[in-house]
Amino acid sequence: MIAKVIVDIASSKVDKVFDYLCPFFVSVGDEVLVPFGSRKMKGLVTDIVEQSEVDENKLKPILKKLENGVDKKTIELAKFISTNYYVGMADALRLFLPRLITAEKTKSKLGFVVELDDRKKAETYLKTLNNKSKVQREIINFMLKHNSCAWDMISKNFSRSSINSLINNGILSKKTCILRRAPKVDIIDNRSKILNKQQKNAVTTILSETNFYLLHGVTGSGKTEVYLSVAQEMINNGKSVLILVPEISLTPQMLGLVKSRFKDSVAVLHSGLSNGERFDEWKKIQSGMVNLVIGARSAIFAPIKNLGLIVVDEEHDDSYRSDTNPRYDTRIVAEKLAELENCSLILGSATPSLESYTKALSGYYKLIEMPERVNNKKMPTIEIVDMTKEFQRGNTGVLSHALEEEIKKALDRNEQVMLFINRRGYNSFLQCKNCGWVANCPDCDVSLVYHKAENVLKCHFCGNRYKMFSVCPECQNENLMVSNFGTQKIVEEVQQKFANAKVIRMDNDTTRTKNAHAKILSSFRNKEANVLVGTQMIAKGHDFPLVSLVGIIDADISLHQTSYKAAEKTFSLITQVAGRAGRSLVPGKVILQTRSPNHYCFKFAKNYDYISFFKKESNLREVTKYPPFAKILRILVKSFDQEVAKNAVMSYYKKIKDLQIENKQDFFYLGIMKSPVGRIEKQYRFQVLMRISASSELVPRIYNIVKSNQPKNAVVFVEINPTNLS
Ligand code: ADP
Ligand code: ZN
Ligand code: ZN
Repeated sequence: MIAKVIVDIASSKVDKVFDYLCPFFVSVGDEVLVPFGSRKMKGLVTDIVEQSEVDENKLKPILKKLENGVDKKTIELAKFISTNYYVGMADALRLFLPRLITAEKTKSKLGFVVELDDRKKAETYLKTLNNKSKVQREIINFMLKHNSCAWDMISKNFSRSSINSLINNGILSKKTCILRRAPKVDIIDNRSKILNKQQKNAVTTILSETNFYLLHGVTGSGKTEVYLSVAQEMINNGKSVLILVPEISLTPQMLGLVKSRFKDSVAVLHSGLSNGERFDEWKKIQSGMVNLVIGARSAIFAPIKNLGLIVVDEEHDDSYRSDTNPRYDTRIVAEKLAELENCSLILGSATPSLESYTKALSGYYKLIEMPERVNNKKMPTIEIVDMTKEFQRGNTGVLSHALEEEIKKALDRNEQVMLFINRRGYNSFLQCKNCGWVANCPDCDVSLVYHKAENVLKCHFCGNRYKMFSVCPECQNENLMVSNFGTQKIVEEVQQKFANAKVIRMDNDTTRTKNAHAKILSSFRNKEANVLVGTQMIAKGHDFPLVSLVGIIDADISLHQTSYKAAEKTFSLITQVAGRAGRSLVPGKVILQTRSPNHYCFKFAKNYDYISFFKKESNLREVTKYPPFAKILRILVKSFDQEVAKNAVMSYYKKIKDLQIENKQDFFYLGIMKSPVGRIEKQYRFQVLMRISASSELVPRIYNIVKSNQPKNAVVFVEINPTNLS
């Protein structure tokens, strides 16, 4: 028996897998100590094979089995990530082993606990105590009730000398224990609801068989209640549950709800935790102390035992894709994990991603629809305002006449307003203020990106560059603008126009510090402000009963992004943002400002017509050859040496060109270019970009070309359907 062992996982940049003899029984996932050159190293067993390709006389034996092994399924999932996303096994395994990195520095926090040694003995002793020992009697009574108590707590309430004398008399004992650093959560009282008909139907369907489900429910249809009911049922049957939510929706409200339902059996993982907190939550999960884990993307790698259900809430959300190394798609990893664990998967959304809805229509996911809002609440009305008309009338401000009127009315009625602008991570595009024309790439059906430093427009899909326009080619007007205004400007305009406005801003700048997020939201909730201006951050999940008006300041910013997904994202964003208005007694209204009022995206969004949007968008993608009907692949080479990067990318291009000649029908596009952002942190960036048919089986061959031609002094990444092509 030969074990393949990957060593030096924590620090190695490349996979180091070696064959070792097994002098004793080891299995896949075991942590072992092996001789490595003149040193000894820790490693994980990734495979057990009959024979080695190396001469067995040259192999050394494993020295020892260690205790921090992983599950066999973890190794399988890591292999899946490694082969599907072109990442090394060490990179993939590191996702599952944050303790390897943190354990050395982060230790469990120790404390003392006082326990009752023996109840009978204590009761007898109690009787012997005379009136002088009032405190000791109180302590014993307290301990008879609680059995054990943290030292800090008991010594705060009773005199130390009394506690110590009880310890000395063998009535109580003091032991060391691990203190758990529990992240702070405000428990909100929220008992389970009586499910309505469509929720019941969803729950029954999901519990009827282990499967992949897509839960398509409009905003406010009560999807959360469905997840929690299914989760409860699973937990009652002794299973564990993983609920994934976008980082941004992991609000105190959401956590409070889950904690109040599932109490101490919940672990929480998100980026706001301190290292110590994360370590403890991870340990809790590993030891099987909890059976519900709620967290952002990376919680998918938590060592949960006995999984019965995985929920991916807001499955359309971009944050489920990791766009730094290792690059992976959480939904696909969740599918694989569900398959390995033989458990159910629920993907939920009001606006499912095109990929997921396509899979549902094909039957790969079982589709569950929840078209009604709870208690038949109406969706807010959406009014589309054409900003080119405003411009023609001489309004050069941020607010349209209609929006200004509505804000005034809402504030006079003592209601609240949310103003939304989509900015984070977005590129600038060029638009005509007078007619709404946008500079597009004639070859790629996406908007061009304005690069300020070079003063040119670039297509991020084909690399073509275009001279900056000075007049609009459609209407010859000179008022061309590069999209760039932010939240600050909106705040100023609102403050200037409305004397009774108390404005609060929520964006990257105002939420840098820990808890800033929660503070802003709670001050808005407490009516310390009546206008909330913000970015994506305010779009999701929040429930403000007094908000009657939502203004979308410039819907074009997201519509004209250089992404084949721009319309899809915009549709989903409008649906989400609109869902913030009119959630309770006051009816809601949405004003959507745009310079492209006739775009199909807005027309369908106005009627909350996801299905029609899906059909239209899906047809377009099929015709223009974009995902899910094609795969976009980018091979990105980075190097400090421009020539090195250039040569490497050229050699890849040549090899893939050969592949294209053999497989013409699979290729829709193949190009080689300097990356749109040609240099980042002093590294030059070049790329081969291709679009190939979705059904093509060339991806592993392309990976192979890259893997077997690793350049020296350069780094290569391969990305599939990257969200960011800069
Ligand atoms: P979604 O996630 O589908 O947008 P939520 O789960 O946030 O919807 O539910 C919307 C609101 O309806 C929440 O305030 C929730 O507490 C409430 N709700 C959900 N189900 C029920 C029910 N069966 N009865 C009463 N209220 C419900
Ligand atoms: Zn124009
Ligand atoms: Zn192009």
